Amino acid sequence: MSGDHDLDLAVRLLAGTPTHEGRDLLTLRQWAVAAAEFGAVMTPDPVTVRVVERDDGLAVGLLARYRSRPAVVEVYVDTVARAERLVDERGWRHWFPAGSVRAAALAHEQAHAWLHHARVRADFKRALGHTALRVGRRRVYAHVAGADELAAHAYARAACGLGRSPLLLTEALAAAAYPESEK
Ligand SMILES: [Zn+2]
Repeated sequence: MSGDHDLDLAVRLLAGTPTHEGRDLLTLRQWAVAAAEFGAVMTPDPVTVRVVERDDGLAVGLLARYRSRPAVVEVYVDTVARAERLVDERGWRHWFPAGSVRAAALAHEQAHAWLHHARVRADFKRALGHTALRVGRRRVYAHVAGADELAAHAYARAACGLGRSPLLLTEALAAAAYPESEK
């Protein structure tokens, strides 16, 4: 049940991502399923990345952000606090236990870092199966815009044992914190 709702959100995210205008929903749905399945079973290396807390996330609309060189995850504590309040306001605590927003944000960024590895990237593209062209019998896979985001959410959900995808939370947060950007 909740899986279907998460899938609908995922398809909507892809549909709203540039380069996917006019794509048929079935293709987007297949990509969303493949990205979620790939993300849910990913096993990123335990990274020893430094976590830096910032308090200006609501201003820029971010929960967390991964930066390489040097590898650091910035956690926006003001957005995390807002998201935790939102969980209570919406009655979603059974899906997102206390403290899970920060944990999910960290897991999400860890997933992004993992998806940057060439081998993981290649595996992910193959799993998505978006063929850009064929060279003889060889298939050359293309990048699917937005798929990383879905895989990162699926990984965070699985890693943190959440009842729903954190995508639900980020969308609700965007609507609550930035109503002017609501479509
Ligand atoms: Zn992300």
